Amino acid sequence: MRDPVPFLIGGERRRSADVADIRFPYTGDVAGCVFLAGDGDVEDAVRAATAGFAVTRRLPAYARSRVLDRLADLIEERGDELAEAIVLEAGKTKTLARGEAARAAETIRISAEEARRIHGEILPLDWNSAGEGYTGYTRRFPIGPILCITGFNFPLNLACHKVGPAIAAGNPVILKPATKTPLTALLLGEMVLDAGFPPEAISVLPCTTGRAERLVADDRIAYVSFTGSPDVGWHIKAIAGRKRVGLELGGNAAAVVCEDADIVHAASRVTAGAFSNAGQVCISVQRVFVHASVYDRFLDELLPRVRSLKVGDPRQDDTDVGPMISPEAAAGAHEKVAEAVREGARVLAGGSCDGTLFEPTVLVDTAPAMRVNRTEIFAPVVTVTPYDAYAEALARVNDSPFGLQAGVFTRDMRRIMQALEELRVGGVVIGDIPTVRMDHMPYGGVKASGLGREGPRYAIEEMTEMRLMVVNAG
Ligand code: NAD
Repeated sequence: MRDPVPFLIGGERRRSADVADIRFPYTGDVAGCVFLAGDGDVEDAVRAATAGFAVTRRLPAYARSRVLDRLADLIEERGDELAEAIVLEAGKTKTLARGEAARAAETIRISAEEARRIHGEILPLDWNSAGEGYTGYTRRFPIGPILCITGFNFPLNLACHKVGPAIAAGNPVILKPATKTPLTALLLGEMVLDAGFPPEAISVLPCTTGRAERLVADDRIAYVSFTGSPDVGWHIKAIAGRKRVGLELGGNAAAVVCEDADIVHAASRVTAGAFSNAGQVCISVQRVFVHASVYDRFLDELLPRVRSLKVGDPRQDDTDVGPMISPEAAAGAHEKVAEAVREGARVLAGGSCDGTLFEPTVLVDTAPAMRVNRTEIFAPVVTVTPYDAYAEALARVNDSPFGLQAGVFTRDMRRIMQALEELRVGGVVIGDIPTVRMDHMPYGGVKASGLGREGPRYAIEEMTEMRLMVVNAG
């Protein structure tokens, strides 16, 4: 087995007495191990970041952009190595892992562009006589150390959505990766160093939850950018004190299939969006509402597609659905399915689970209050429900504590505009499932799904502060 991977504190590789094993979710075998940062390391990371801010805040736009361009090049050059690490620690299929590495390079490339576009405004202030001769100028400035805490399901691209904008804005970075997937983040940290970012301004520290909480509460951290589960996210906001917090949390995303939809297209997109990465995607399709007149046709198109998905070893090229992250996560989701069945739901495809392998599952006859509908299941499970009136379908989509994205399959302009007006979500996707994210778009949720937006341009706004200059030229 390979030696434990050191963590990074202010650009310095460190070891400790604590080692954590990282397991391959498909077999449960140890795939690697990492040293865990201790209390002293956490303190050193904050000190290094605070000192690093004196350097990063003065980096001109072209220098920040150049670092990010180099980083994107390195991610591209070492894409296979990164993809392999993602397969091993997250259990993602090879195809998805390669796709994630390519997206990560793109996210950093977008950040490189946005680093050059941090503009302000010029405001004539003569709205009344008191303002005659006055002009306002706004500019955005970096705010200081950014604490980036990421979830396991996109170990590389989630980190890039935080590290990229932080560097673009001129802020130091402390990255705390998910406990089960630190290997990719440590590789990314090495690449940030190789790309020429000031070493004191980059730390990557796998650590315990307690130490992560100390970082969240630390007043020297300027901003916490968190991606993970709603319970942890809102707890982080509660302990963060006065600092700003961005929360990218979970959901139970829905799609509406109207009577005028292309049913073959809708069924094929729902198959892609409900089961990709074994359903462990924050905008995975979890609930589908289908107009009663096309309900049977939709199921006839959906079920054969779902039943033909190949579940198994994520290292095989022809595997469609790999393992879930842990046997506990799979068992928890399976219990929600079993509970729904006890309460009257029917399983039309899948339904069983063996260790971390969870069969793609389609449920019908569910009720809104069942946990398969109400909570984020984060497993390859989708519920399909008929509706009669469009307003009823939109109300069902909104009948959720969450609001990340929603998809509506229709070509009717009135329905499209009604969806935009009525749906309480961060993004409405027309003609497709909610599982759509281009890395430069504004992305995030409302209600329990989060706070703030990612996408480099929007994350840069959160990671900078506006300063106004008023000039009296009179
Ligand atoms: P998680 O909440 O268990 O962990 C997320 C991160 O928080 C990890 O790094 C973890 O170690 C850390 N953490 C846990 N407890 C903490 C504490 N008390 N203080 C500080 N840090 C703590 O989430 P997960 O299981 O890794 O990820 C899955 C979740 O993430 C799902 O809910 C999914 O929907 C969500 N997610 C959201 C988005 C988005 O962009 N909205 C993207 C991906 C995943």
